[in-house]
Amino acid sequence: MLNNAVFNSAMKKWSRSGGRLVVISSPTAGGKTTVCAELIKSDSTCVRSISCTTRRPRKGEKDGVDYYFIGENVFRERIKQGFFLEWAKVHDSYYGTPGLRAKALLKKGKNVILTIDVKGGRQVKKNFKDACLIFILPPSFKEMLKRIKMRGTESRPVVNLRLSTAEKELRELPAYEYLVINDSLNDAVCSIKAIIKAENSKIKHAKEAH
Ligand code: 5GP
Repeated sequence: MLNNAVFNSAMKKWSRSGGRLVVISSPTAGGKTTVCAELIKSDSTCVRSISCTTRRPRKGEKDGVDYYFIGENVFRERIKQGFFLEWAKVHDSYYGTPGLRAKALLKKGKNVILTIDVKGGRQVKKNFKDACLIFILPPSFKEMLKRIKMRGTESRPVVNLRLSTAEKELRELPAYEYLVINDSLNDAVCSIKAIIKAENSKIKHAKEAH
């Protein structure tokens, strides 16, 4: 017969209190940085992972806030030390997610948001089966070009390199679990919050944790 103890034990067993790795990828100018910034501002369960990169800071970017900007030798040394949860070479620079902070945040029950490329996304899914993979697309190609031009921080050859990478990234879309169209910032953020909530409510994940 159902009583308080039986009820509480079922609740304890099947509700999930841990955090989750949430990978958010998009082709260039898909808007993932803005969407993630808004997500983190409005949801205290979500924390952004700060990556290391060997690329130079863009105007306005701060070390330790946007990225940890490090040299290639240091990056290679850290790969050897197993410092990264995942890493990849993107557009001629190295990028990697520091593992220790992400794992500590997961333990605290936080959803750790990784705004990383598709190669990194694949590595994360391979090593963390319950990670959630979300792909963001701008509403159209025209809009994507408009956003790249508005950004204005890149030269023509860099824009071309990014467009050719974007084509390859689009082919990886089927490896992802969710697609969010970034037409309106508010709608995109709401969709991502709903996805995270649904993922964290899955009984399947609680079963895997047992
Ligand atoms: P950007 O130089 O424009 O900031 O980033 C270039 C690409 O690198 C983007 O697709 C971005 O998501 C990706 N990226 C940023 N940090 C990481 C990371 O830690 N790991 C991987 N694999 N990709 C990253």
